[in-house]
Amino acid sequence: MNREPVSRELFDEVMVPNYAPGNIIPVRGEGSRVWDQEGREFIDLQGGIAVTSLGHAHPGLVGALQEQAEKVWHLSNVMTNEPALRLAKTLCDHTFAERVFFANSGAEANEAAFKLARRYSWEHYGPEKHEIISFKNAFHGRTLFTVSVGGQHKYLEGFEPAPGGIHHADFNDLDSVKALISKEKTCAVVVEPIQGESGVLPADPEFLKGLRQLCDENNALLVFDEVQTGVGRTGYLYAYEMYGVTPDILSSAKGLGGGFPVAAMLTTAKVAASLGVGTHGSTYGGNALACAVAQKVIDTVSQPEILKGVNARSDKLRKGMMNIGERYGVFSEVRGAGLLLGCVLTEQWQGKAKDFLNAGLEEGVMVLMAGANVIRLAPSLIIPEVDIEEALERFEAAVEKLTA
Ligand SMILES: *Cc1c(COP(=O)(O)O)cnc(C)c1O
Repeated sequence: MNREPVSRELFDEVMVPNYAPGNIIPVRGEGSRVWDQEGREFIDLQGGIAVTSLGHAHPGLVGALQEQAEKVWHLSNVMTNEPALRLAKTLCDHTFAERVFFANSGAEANEAAFKLARRYSWEHYGPEKHEIISFKNAFHGRTLFTVSVGGQHKYLEGFEPAPGGIHHADFNDLDSVKALISKEKTCAVVVEPIQGESGVLPADPEFLKGLRQLCDENNALLVFDEVQTGVGRTGYLYAYEMYGVTPDILSSAKGLGGGFPVAAMLTTAKVAASLGVGTHGSTYGGNALACAVAQKVIDTVSQPEILKGVNARSDKLRKGMMNIGERYGVFSEVRGAGLLLGCVLTEQWQGKAKDFLNAGLEEGVMVLMAGANVIRLAPSLIIPEVDIEEALERFEAAVEKLTA
């Protein structure tokens, strides 16, 4: 067995070069702190990009995984399994959903959502009604269908021809949707309640309400991509509750497994009926280990005191970042909801998000970017208050050096 030490350099020798990872390799984590190979400690405000919703090595999640690991790992969808059924029941109990499909990633949950929307319209209205309306700068994943529905053309470059029947309207602009939607052709409108990857940009409540109405008037399904905003991230179990707008289909992933790969597509019984036996599937979807972990995540995150805690932590983090922004003139705005925050760089610092990320690492705090103009924070939903305070101190030190 090869147990030689590995270093960051090895990445360039053995990995496909589609990522540009940082120079440190974290090897251990506990709560919101992680340690690298050299034993250097970091406070984690990245949260694995809104994934490690309960921090690292959460005893409840470790316990759920170990307990299930000793029972049964995998059965395939030729059989069902107890953890999958329990999790589906829990998700239905806590949301608008009446039916659940499990997958392994956000892209796959969205792929299922888009296929279901097409199939539903095909079944109820015929093949002409297949168009999907999505939004510029939206992000829905990296499969060819999801990247095509996504609104950043650079991610399609060199991969075309792309699937057809997809239109992109302007986010937060209902008139641009009205210009594209029709009873004859539109099967679905797909939207992130808060555009995550492209800069933590929240939808206006009136915009989402308007989309709901337009979908109803045009017999189109409303799909919310809550891969990033779901599972307590905004202080609500799902962001649609915050907006008071209920979709027909919702995709969930990232935080759902707290770091174990699992995803879900939620929908109503009526819409779900269009994915009959044999129409869609996933080998690992509904895997017993994944569902056992996600069960523990949902049971924990859905507790009112945890969700309330997200808002308290959000206030503290938001205020701290706004103070730093004002003191050093680096942020024009801190936007987002709950523990999905975007600190928008002032004109002078546009395009420099990566410098802030690297400066943070030097001082022992891990932050994210969302595009080149926004510093994104998506820490554990239960990050201790003292870790927030210390992370702010470290980040301020980083900003002080960067702006000196
Ligand atoms: C991350 C993300 C995805 C893709 O999820 P993967 O698990 O990487 O496939 C899709 N939609 C949104 C809104 C996301 O933030």
